[in-house]
Amino acid sequence: MLTAEIIAIGSELLTPRFKDTNSVFLTQQLNRMGISVAMRTIAGDHEDKLEHALKSAMDRTPIVITIGGLGPTEDDITRKAVAQVTRRQLVLDDVVLEKLKARFAKRSMPMPANNARQALVPAGAEVLDNPNGTAPGLWLSNEKNTLILLPGPPRELEPMFERSCCPRLIKMAGSLALSVRTYRTTGLPESTLDARIAPIYTKYRNPETTVLSKPGQVDIHLIARAKTVAEADRLVDELGNQIDQELGDFVFARSDQELEEIVGMYLVLKGATIAVAESCTGGMMAERLTSVPGSSRYFTSGIVTYSNESKIALVGIPPLVLEMEGAVSKEVSVGLAESVREKIGSTIGVGITGIAGPDGGTPEKPVGTVHVAVSGPEGTTHLQFVFPGARDRVRWQSSQAALDMVRRYLETL
Ligand code: AMP
Ligand code: MG
Repeated sequence: MLTAEIIAIGSELLTPRFKDTNSVFLTQQLNRMGISVAMRTIAGDHEDKLEHALKSAMDRTPIVITIGGLGPTEDDITRKAVAQVTRRQLVLDDVVLEKLKARFAKRSMPMPANNARQALVPAGAEVLDNPNGTAPGLWLSNEKNTLILLPGPPRELEPMFERSCCPRLIKMAGSLALSVRTYRTTGLPESTLDARIAPIYTKYRNPETTVLSKPGQVDIHLIARAKTVAEADRLVDELGNQIDQELGDFVFARSDQELEEIVGMYLVLKGATIAVAESCTGGMMAERLTSVPGSSRYFTSGIVTYSNESKIALVGIPPLVLEMEGAVSKEVSVGLAESVREKIGSTIGVGITGIAGPDGGTPEKPVGTVHVAVSGPEGTTHLQFVFPGARDRVRWQSSQAALDMVRRYLETL
């Protein structure tokens, strides 16, 4: 099996504040194409240490990928260290220089002299285009090693790796065709879900199955390898369809789409609009719905009714209901959903009220208690949840559960 090493460069990555998330991303991508990661290093912005790390990585491992240190400032030392270790000169690349100048000209800014450094490349290196930033990536190879230099910001690194590196690495990995599929589920805990599908997927070594859980969501990834894409697709279909059938409507997506995108698609499909009244989620549901491009077609409004007074004044929850049932109750969630729907005149109204913690729990209503109601032309549905975890997790899972209830409601329309 082909192996790679990753060297993340940046002194900030050696402090507790910054996480080397790029290495995780790259490892995932490499593994998908059948390349295993033999070692990961984090190096500070020191030329000698980096040279040392590069030398030993290149001695051990055929593919070496560096992250970061390609910027225009003094502490961006990757180009220099690589030139040193590979015994290549740094030469000015005219094409890169022109692109840099054009990038600044487009913003009507003069290019700072520093930035010209980014056009210095080790002789013989191939330049990888960076549409999202100034630092181009670099690809160097000799008989023994392939050395890939990528920029640090994830929004630059990820598309560059996917577009400019993946196709070539897949070829190097043995040119096996791959087929990848993700099933996204919500509503089943990971262990329950795995108990249901493990008897199916453990019968297959190809596709390879990974179950990844995050709060309120479990994703199932299938990767099949075969001689042809058609055969890999067939393998993914064969196992995927069985998993799909077993999990039924707990599956909300058969791709990398988020739950809010799926809900948006349903709303468009049904020609429906949605309004939300949120308490414990403080606008998170509205934020998630409106994060989807084109959401103005169906999202009408979101109201954050955090205090009792606002629940009375903005959506007309009767004070007596708040007093008798408490703000975190079925009655209040139903009231929020029905009133916001009526006031706005939307097809769907959603009400969310709960105790996100850490304070405010009681034996009857522990922290994590959340009531969600979804109101629409077919009446109002309500569910009570008790979510585990700290405040941010409770809030996230509340928005996830509410989105899922909307998805299920829309399926019945
Ligand atoms: P650099 O290319 O070294 O100038 O890095 C630019 C920015 O990219 C840094 O300030 C970080 O915010 C981010 N970054 C660099 N390396 C990583 C990494 N390994 N994982 C995640 N973010 C990174
Ligand atoms: Mg840096």
